[in-house]
Amino acid sequence: MYETITENLQRIKNALPNGVTLVAVSKTKPIKDLQEAYDAGQRIFGENKVQELQEKYPALPKDIQWHMIGHLQSNKVKYIAPFISLIHGVESLKLLKEINKQALKNNRKIKVLLQFMIAEESTKFGFSLDEVQTLLISAEYRTLNNISIVGIMGMASNVNDDQQVSNEFNNLKKYFDILKINFFPQSNEFTTISMGMSGDYELAIQEGSTMVRIGSSIFGSRNYEK
Ligand SMILES: *Cc1c(COP(=O)(O)O)cnc(C)c1O
Repeated sequence: MYETITENLQRIKNALPNGVTLVAVSKTKPIKDLQEAYDAGQRIFGENKVQELQEKYPALPKDIQWHMIGHLQSNKVKYIAPFISLIHGVESLKLLKEINKQALKNNRKIKVLLQFMIAEESTKFGFSLDEVQTLLISAEYRTLNNISIVGIMGMASNVNDDQQVSNEFNNLKKYFDILKINFFPQSNEFTTISMGMSGDYELAIQEGSTMVRIGSSIFGSRNYEK
């Protein structure tokens, strides 16, 4: 049955428990679709391409919080640094340093999530727990005053095996708990576990997700051949 963006949003928002934030993933979708979601009350939008962010940001209301959810190249950070509200997919110290540099230039502190590799698929990006712990004790990390690590992010394998997907999300939750205890015990900011997409967000919520990134269940399937 065909449902409008407004109806989809309403249905999903009603089903989300308190404490789970919805990122409406609007990549590839036209401005009018984002405007419809905005008019229905949605304020957080996720995009995975710098160029799309650059096009959509000026065209839409200024109280939108824009999240970068895709793979971000260091040389493109400067284009989104003035306005980006959260960068989900940070998976190298190099990228973290560049975000810090551009945040400083814009007189901002930019919030980021560290991306973990939780899927068995080698196509996904991300840190291991060891790598993150090494990063967080490094002297270099401590000099990065214009970034704030507010949590972690991960993508489960794209498989039909619910048990495998749940296990992968469960691992991400465990990594979060370890990092929280060891590195952010006093932080009110380190609170976000970004996991769950259209196909698996219910499982992600069961495993402790605090932020779901949902695209096609809101906006319909994406057409990349245009
Ligand atoms: C596209 C994308 C999503 C949303 O995917 P849907 O299956 O359409 O909900 C979530 N997270 C990331 C990182 C994405 O690239």
